[in-house]
Amino acid sequence: MREIQVSSGNVSDVSAQLRPLLTRARFLVAVTGAGISRASGLPLLRETIDGVPLAWFFRRESLDEAPERYYDLYRRLLSEWRHARPNPAHLGLARHGVWVITQNIDGLHRDAGTEHLIELHGNLRELRCPGCGALYAAELVWRTHVPACARCGRVLHPGVTLEGEQIRHFSLAVDWVGRCEVLYVVGTSLKMDPVRRLPELARRNGAWVVWINREAERLLPRLLPGSGGLNA
Ligand SMILES: [Zn+2]
Repeated sequence: MREIQVSSGNVSDVSAQLRPLLTRARFLVAVTGAGISRASGLPLLRETIDGVPLAWFFRRESLDEAPERYYDLYRRLLSEWRHARPNPAHLGLARHGVWVITQNIDGLHRDAGTEHLIELHGNLRELRCPGCGALYAAELVWRTHVPACARCGRVLHPGVTLEGEQIRHFSLAVDWVGRCEVLYVVGTSLKMDPVRRLPELARRNGAWVVWINREAERLLPRLLPGSGGLNA
């Protein structure tokens, strides 16, 4: 069996089973989602912030129609999220050189030091010019109410994928997954297209697929190369 669901009940067995593979595997990839950041003090995506439905934030029309209100909400989100810190799951992936494909926009894999990283939905801490593509640090919003591009003057967009926009770098993600020997799926059930195709792609290429949905900060460090399965 090359596909495993990990829980606190079977993690010791799974760790022993994977050990020989992890000792010789050279290319490990993880696909991560919201669940990996739950232990990082990140406010869960609530239904509303200051009475504004969060879905409103992810619509491009909101930004076009009400840029001032939009950036008020953006500052609220940013100030709540920037207190979050990577937890042992993010740090373990970085320390063991696992390449990461994330659906999260919280930037915690960057903070953890992951070198090879694909942020499929972008990053909340960046701003992007829809005109010329220039990138800016989100801190710009503390100096200006509605940030605009210094080069071309367009109102900047948050660095995240808005509704109806394509996720980014997916063909690169397919390339990584198609070459890996172990694929960790962490804190996500991968129900949405096109990411739902990734585990099947890994299996077809003979990789093991290791699903860790809950308690990733506790379970994942025991399933990484060189961890000996002991540092729980
Ligand atoms: Zn521009």
